[in-house]
Amino acid sequence: MEIKMLLREINKAIRHDIMDGRAEDTPYKIHASSVYDFCPYRVKLALALKRGYSPQQPLDSGRAMTFKIGRKIQDIIIESVVSFQPEYVYGFWRCPICDSRYIGSGVNRKCKRCNVNREYHELEVRYTINDKFFISGSIDLLYGIDKFVPFEIKSVRREDFELKEPIYKYVYQLAVYLWLIKYGDVQRPEINSDFGVLLYIPKFHRNPPLKAFKVPGSITKRIDRDIKELVKGVRDLDNATKICKSSNSPLAKKCPFRRECWEIGIN
Ligand code: SF4
Ligand SMILES: [Zn+2]
Repeated sequence: MEIKMLLREINKAIRHDIMDGRAEDTPYKIHASSVYDFCPYRVKLALALKRGYSPQQPLDSGRAMTFKIGRKIQDIIIESVVSFQPEYVYGFWRCPICDSRYIGSGVNRKCKRCNVNREYHELEVRYTINDKFFISGSIDLLYGIDKFVPFEIKSVRREDFELKEPIYKYVYQLAVYLWLIKYGDVQRPEINSDFGVLLYIPKFHRNPPLKAFKVPGSITKRIDRDIKELVKGVRDLDNATKICKSSNSPLAKKCPFRRECWEIGIN
């Protein structure tokens, strides 16, 4: 096989793999990271066109690769903490052999029947809007001794790592998790909703390799207002309005429904 052809095939494989992992959201599932720039009109389009409510246009193979590397870096951190101090980690644990599962700290992770460690999965927090729509998020890591603190892990570029303040969109996403912990469908008092921690890992060599920002729960007042708007929007989709001012606004440029929204239309 020629090298050129090999490269083309690898590029295809990367894109395919990443799209598989990201195509899971139905229009009914609103991910916590989509609350920030939520557009009810996009949901209306997604439903009419029977497509997923994807927050972004499909990635090219370059960005797909960067995304995948970032995800792997996050997994390494989670795996390290889970294997080193499982008793301080709260999550959803599942036995790979007999499928027995529970939610709680990893102190009881060993499956007595199979004598193997149950596998760690991120805990999902959700808020049901009606019989179809729900807001959902999976918390990267819940870590603590008395109360488990939510951690959102981001692998970032050098320019972002050097910043004194974290990127607001990440702060917002973590604040949505805090909101979901407090007001979501299932109350778990063992999880802290007063603050969370945004953990930056650089995508380049650095010692020490982490940076942490505390995100206070007080920001959830704004989230409260935004989620009320969101709920109103999905309950009244017939009258959904566009949130972009034109097809050239920054959000529209990234929106996978830009053409349908501004050129083709629905109905
Ligand atoms: S282009 Fe803007 S207004 Fe139109 S669906 Fe996308 S986010 Fe909504
Ligand atoms: Zn088992």
